Amino acid sequence: MPTATPEFDAIVIGAGFSGIHMLKSLRDHLGLKVRVYEAGDTVGGTWYWNRYPGARCDSDAYIYCFTWDKQLLQEWEWTERYPEQPEILRYLEHVAARHDLKRDMVFKTRITGAEWDDKSHLWTVHTDKGDAVTARYVIAAVGTLSETNLPNIKGLENFKGQSCHTSRFPKEGIDFTGKRVAVVGTGATAVQAIPEIAQQAKQLTIFQRTANYCVPARNGKVDPELVRKRKADYDGIVQRIKDSFFGQEHYFIPKSALEVSAEERERDFDRMWDAGGFAFWLANYKDMFFTQEANDLCADYIKRKIRSTVKDPAIAEKLTPKGYAYGTKRQPLDTNYYETFNKENVLLVDAKADGPIEEITATGIRAGGKEYPQDIIVFATGFDAMTGPLKALHLKGRDGRTLDQVWAEGPRSYLGIAVAGFPNFFTITGPQSPSVLSNMPVSIEQHVDWISDCIDAMRKSEKTTIEAMPEAQDQWVAHVNEIVAATLMPGANSWYMSANIPGKPRAFLPYLGPEGVGGYRRKCEEVAAHNYEGFELA
Ligand SMILES: Cc1cc2nc3c(=O)[nH]c(=O)nc-3n(C[C@H](O)[C@H](O)[C@H](O)COP(=O)(O)OP(=O)(O)OC[C@H]3O[C@@H](n4cnc5c(N)ncnc54)[C@H](O)[C@@H]3O)c2cc1C
Repeated sequence: MPTATPEFDAIVIGAGFSGIHMLKSLRDHLGLKVRVYEAGDTVGGTWYWNRYPGARCDSDAYIYCFTWDKQLLQEWEWTERYPEQPEILRYLEHVAARHDLKRDMVFKTRITGAEWDDKSHLWTVHTDKGDAVTARYVIAAVGTLSETNLPNIKGLENFKGQSCHTSRFPKEGIDFTGKRVAVVGTGATAVQAIPEIAQQAKQLTIFQRTANYCVPARNGKVDPELVRKRKADYDGIVQRIKDSFFGQEHYFIPKSALEVSAEERERDFDRMWDAGGFAFWLANYKDMFFTQEANDLCADYIKRKIRSTVKDPAIAEKLTPKGYAYGTKRQPLDTNYYETFNKENVLLVDAKADGPIEEITATGIRAGGKEYPQDIIVFATGFDAMTGPLKALHLKGRDGRTLDQVWAEGPRSYLGIAVAGFPNFFTITGPQSPSVLSNMPVSIEQHVDWISDCIDAMRKSEKTTIEAMPEAQDQWVAHVNEIVAATLMPGANSWYMSANIPGKPRAFLPYLGPEGVGGYRRKCEEVAAHNYEGFELA
C-alpha cells in the first residue's frame, strides 16, 4: 500500500454551486483536508462570470438553490420567479459565508495541469501561479458552461470599438446609451440580453445564425401565498424533484400529441404557454422528443406565436426556426424577445436570408457583403460545453494519457462521474450524466453526495484508488448513445450535440436516460450498493 501522505485529501477545482457543496460535504461531513481552487475572484461560478444585462436563471428559483441547507430554504427570500445574476451571486456568497467555506478556497488561481502518480496513488496539481500540491482525490467542479466560445471570425482583433463575450462581461457594466450595438448569436443568453440592450442602444443589430424556438418566461413576483405553501412543503418538493425526469416539477403529459383532438391539444399548449418557463419544453406530450409528427405540432404552435407577435412578416419569417425539431436545443426563455423586433432601432441580420458574417472590420461587422457599423459588439456565442473546461485542466492520467487523447472521438465516461485511466478523479455533472438536461442544482447535489459517500467508503475499507473499468465505461457510452439515438436530439446542430465548436467530434454530451434524473440516481445508487460495480478499487 502506498505510504506517501498528500498535502490534501482532495483538491476541488471551481467554486460555483458544485465546488461550494463539494467542499462543505468533504470538509464538514467527512472531516477531510480540502482545498478549492477558483479562477475567478470569488465564489459563484456561472453567476460570477455572466454579468450581461438580463442575466438570470431560467429554472424557478425555489428549486434553483441548495436543498442541503434546510434552514436556509426557509430563510432565503427570492425577489422574483427567476432572480437576476447579482441576486444569485449574493445567495452563493451568503452560503459560503454562512458555512465559513472561503478559508479553504484559493481565488484568482487557475489549475493548469495535474498528473497521476501510480506509485504514490496521488495527484500532483499545478496552478498558474507556479505552485504544485498533492492530493489523493481531484474533483472537477469546473462547470459545464464555463469555457467561453469566442468564434474565430476573420478580423476579430481589428475592431476599434468595445467588444466582449457575455460570460466575460465587465463588472462595471457597459453603457449602451446612444451607441450602435451588435449582438452576435441568438441562443438562450442572447434572448435574455437583446430586449435589455435594445432599450438602451441607439441601434441594435442582431446577427442570427439559427432561429430559436423561444417560449415566454413569465417572470415576476411570486404570490406570497405560493411562497408560504412551498416553504411548508420543501421536503416534498425536494423528494419530487429528485425523483423527476428533469429535476423540476414538470411532468410529461402521459399521452401522444397525435392521439388527442386538435381542441384538446390547443388547450394544453395554451396552458403550458401561459404557465411560462420550461413547462412547454419539459411538460409537453410524451412523444414530443421522439416523434417528428408530434414535435411538428408543438413547433407549429410556437411558429404561429412568432407570426402573431412580430409585425413585419419578413422579419417573422427570419425568426421562424427551420430544419430542426422543437426542444432539441437549449430552450431560451423570452421576456419581450419577439416584441423587441418590432422596435424601430432593432435590425435582424440572418445568416441565411442576408448572408453570414464574413469579417469583423475596424468599425463594424461585414455580413453578406454589407458593412454594419458598430460601436460595441457583444458576442453571445456560448461555450465549449461540458468537455471544454475538463480538457482545459490538462490532466495526465495513467500512462500520461490526457483527456484530449482519450476523448479524441467524443467524451467517454462511466456514469458521467469518472473516466477510465484517471483514478481518483471525479467530475461533477460531467459528460454523459443528466447534467445540462436537468435543473442543475439537483444533479450537482446528487453527484456531490455520491462522490462523498464513495470517498467515505474507500477510507473505511482502506482503499486508496478507485477507477472506472473500461468495459463498464464502454457499456455506459453505448447506453447513452443508444438512448439518444431514439430521440430527435441528434438531428439538431446544437451544443448538446457538440455542433457549435468547429472540429469538435459530433457526440451527444449529456445523458437523456429513460427515467431521467430519478432513474439515473437509482442507477448510481445501485452501483454504490454493489460495491461500486464497474469500478476497480485497490
Ligand atoms: C447564463 C447562464 C444561465 C444558466 N441558467 C441556468 C438555469 O436556469 N438552470 C440551471 O439548472 N442551470 C443554469 N445554468 C447552468 C449553470 O452553469 C449551473 O446551473 C450551475 O451554476 C453550475 O455550477 P457549477 O459549480 O457546476 O459550475 P460553474 O458555475 O460554471 O462554476 C465552475 C467554476 O469553475 C471555475 N474553473 C473552471 N476551470 C477552472 C480551472 N482550470 N481552474 C480554476 N477554476 C476553474 C470557473 O471559473 C467557474 O467559476 C446557466 C448557465 C449560464 C451560463
